[in-house]
Amino acid sequence: MTSSQTLPIPLQTLAIHEHAWLVESRHPTSEGIVLYVRCDGCGTRRVDVQQHPHVPPTALSRALR
Ligand SMILES: [Zn+2]
Repeated sequence: MTSSQTLPIPLQTLAIHEHAWLVESRHPTSEGIVLYVRCDGCGTRRVDVQQHPHVPPTALSRALR
């Protein structure tokens, strides 16, 4: 038995983790509700827009570090 699978975790794993978006503020607009969200894990921010209360919000901006 060798332990060849115990490789160090690459730093990229942290960079591409699944963000845990928290809504910091929301603003109703004619386009829908604009959500300002921030990742609880790494602090990345993003802007989402929710065009209808019954559909999930979509990303309006790319994730910004
Ligand atoms: Zn994150």
